[in-house]
Amino acid sequence: MKVVILVGGVGGARFLLGVKQALGLPATGSAPESPHEVTALVNTGDDVWMHGLRICPDLDTCMYTLGGGIDEERGWGHSGETWTVKEELAAYGAEPTWFGLGDKDIATHLIRSRMLRAGYPLSQVTEALCDRWQPGVRLLPMSDDRVETHVVIDDPEDPDQRKAIHFQEWWVRYRAEPKAHSIIAVGADEAKPAPGVLDAIAGADVVLFAPSNPVVSVGTTLGVPGIRDALRKTRAKVVGVSPIIGGKALRGMADACLSAIGVETSAEAVGRHYGSRKESPEGVLDGWLVSEGETVDVPGVAVRDVPLLMSDVDATAAMVRAAFDLAGVSVD
Ligand code: GDP
Ligand code: CA
Repeated sequence: MKVVILVGGVGGARFLLGVKQALGLPATGSAPESPHEVTALVNTGDDVWMHGLRICPDLDTCMYTLGGGIDEERGWGHSGETWTVKEELAAYGAEPTWFGLGDKDIATHLIRSRMLRAGYPLSQVTEALCDRWQPGVRLLPMSDDRVETHVVIDDPEDPDQRKAIHFQEWWVRYRAEPKAHSIIAVGADEAKPAPGVLDAIAGADVVLFAPSNPVVSVGTTLGVPGIRDALRKTRAKVVGVSPIIGGKALRGMADACLSAIGVETSAEAVGRHYGSRKESPEGVLDGWLVSEGETVDVPGVAVRDVPLLMSDVDATAAMVRAAFDLAGVSVD
């Protein structure tokens, strides 16, 4: 079975662990003899240059999680990390100081930045990094082109003005507290899907949306020209998993992103925002999984309620099986 999944960082990576288990793939490492093929289309709108290094938070979270190298407690970065370089940079007063760059992580960024500067596209750089981590899933950046999510907030220096800051600064430095007037994916209009993205969607047996942030993870990927069309045309069924449970975003500040685009923080509103492939002109969903006990109506979309907490890999694999079931595909 060919499975394609749209993902962001932490929520996406956890979901991918469940996908691997549901397909009988080992938690870490690859399984070349498996008949199943998993392709993750990863958001790159969070990517940013810092200290001359290209940082790809969502790609790295997926790569480290699936490769067994993630710091489980933090949810991002390497396990067993040390912070010598960060302390040295701070001693120089080098900005920004609010972004966590661990020593081991810096090695990843050095290799990525060096390859990018030598002219390799991000998709090939990612493949090279995954040679070491063997995530067992093909990790494809949504695009090789630079797309960066910016957030428009009131200028703290001048309340009559607004200014746009990089999503990472808003999210990590300011904890998404300044009200977001709008969220813009800078560069998305001219971006092309990375090689392999459209073919993966067209050739899929099933497409899933991880319960990733609907605005700045899945939403950014949907904004790359060509991807939404490919999702609307594929023969595969497209099933999304709600990141909103009981009107709340889990472990995150997704509600601040949803309100910026005028969408209520509810499974129903997010399902309607993605929309029906059959019944709405831009819609992308055939199925929508919501949390057990919630009654949700999304016109033209098959909705099913199941437990949606990714408390452990077994629970996540059960969610994935429910998504397969809703899509009418079975693993064997
Ligand atoms: P990020 O890029 O690291 O912010 O992570 P993602 O965009 O991939 O995922 C973040 C989203 O995951 C948040 O909006 C959460 O609501 C959602 N999320 C986190 N844990 C769970 C869970 O256990 N179940 C569900 N359904 N959603 C979750
Ligand atoms: Ca992210």
